Amino acid sequence: MKRAQAFGRSLAIAQDKLVEIPKPIELLSESEIQRKQIISKIMTFTLEYLTYEFLKNEFEWLLPVIFSKSTDPLWPDPGASIEKRVEVEIYGKTVRATQSMIVHKMVACSLVQPKLFVFSPNVRIEKIERANSGLHVYEFTQLDFEIRNASSREVRNLVEKMISGLIKSVKNNLSFELSFLGRNHSLAIPETPFRVYDREELENKYGRNWETQITFEITNPIWITNVPREFYDFEDFEKGTWDNYDLLLPKYGEVLSGARREWEYPKLVRKMERDNIKQENFTLLLNLAKQGKLKPSAGAGIGIERLVSWIAGARHVGETQMFPKIPGLVYDL
Ligand code: ASP
Ligand code: MG
Repeated sequence: MKRAQAFGRSLAIAQDKLVEIPKPIELLSESEIQRKQIISKIMTFTLEYLTYEFLKNEFEWLLPVIFSKSTDPLWPDPGASIEKRVEVEIYGKTVRATQSMIVHKMVACSLVQPKLFVFSPNVRIEKIERANSGLHVYEFTQLDFEIRNASSREVRNLVEKMISGLIKSVKNNLSFELSFLGRNHSLAIPETPFRVYDREELENKYGRNWETQITFEITNPIWITNVPREFYDFEDFEKGTWDNYDLLLPKYGEVLSGARREWEYPKLVRKMERDNIKQENFTLLLNLAKQGKLKPSAGAGIGIERLVSWIAGARHVGETQMFPKIPGLVYDL
C-alpha cells in the first residue's frame, strides 16, 4: 500500500493517512462481507430516501443515458484530473460515455420537463494517483437534478433540507448499522442553513490548499460559491463572479456541484472560445440556444457514493460500491 498523497483539490480524506484500497468482491473475508452488507444497507436507505424526496417535490424521474455526441467536457475545472475520455464509434458516428448528464439536463429541462432528476452513471477515467485519495472512483453515480427558472438559493435550500432530513432519518432507523461502523456518535444531524463561503475569500485566507484545509476544519456541511469552471455555469462577466456552488462535507470534501446555468447563445459561444471547447461537440445545445429555446435553469448533482461514504465513515469511497472502480485497478467485475 502506498502512502496517500495530496493532489490539488478535493483530497481531504487522504491527509496523513494510509488509504486502504477496497478489495474486489470475491476476495472479501467474512467480516469484510458483513461490513459490505452494512454499508450496502445504508446505500439502499439513502437511495430510497432521496428518491422519495424528489418525488414528493414533484420532480419527474428520468432514466440515464450512456453514449451521446455531447457530454460534460469536465474542462476547465480545477478539480478535474481526467486521464482519458471514452469515445467510441457506433453507426459511423463518434459518441462519448457520459461524464455527466449536464447537457441532457439543460435540454430536457428546457424542452420537456421543468423539474427532473436522474441517477446517472458517470465515467471519469481519473489519473492512477487518485486511487490513494480515498475519494475517487472511475465510475460513479450522480443524482443529478435540474429546475427551470430556479435560483441558486432555491437549489441550495432544497439540498439542505434533503441532507439534514436524510441524516436524521438514518440515525432514527439505522442505529445498529451506524454503531457497527463506529459512526453513531460522530455523525451529527447537519444544522441548516449551511454556511456559504466565497471561494475567493478562502483562497486569500488559506492559499492554494484551501479546500483540504477547510474540509478538516468544519463540523457541519458548507457551501462554496463562485468557483470558475465549465462554460455551462453562469458567469457574471462584469463582476467577474460565478453563480455556482459546491457542497463540502466535514473530512470528506466535495459531494455536490451545481449552478445556475448559462442559456444565452453569445455567452455560451464566447466562453467556449475562451476555454478552447470544441463547439462541434455541443451542436444541439448551441442550436437550441441560438433559437432561444434553451431556458434559464439551476440544478446540481450529488455524488451518491461520496454521500454514503460520509454517512458510513468509509475508508475509501470504493467501499460503498459492490464492484469498486478504483483508479488504475481494473477488477474482473
Ligand atoms: N452535475 C453537475 C451540475 O449539475 C455537473 C458536474 O457533474 O460537474 O452542475
Ligand atoms: Mg461540473
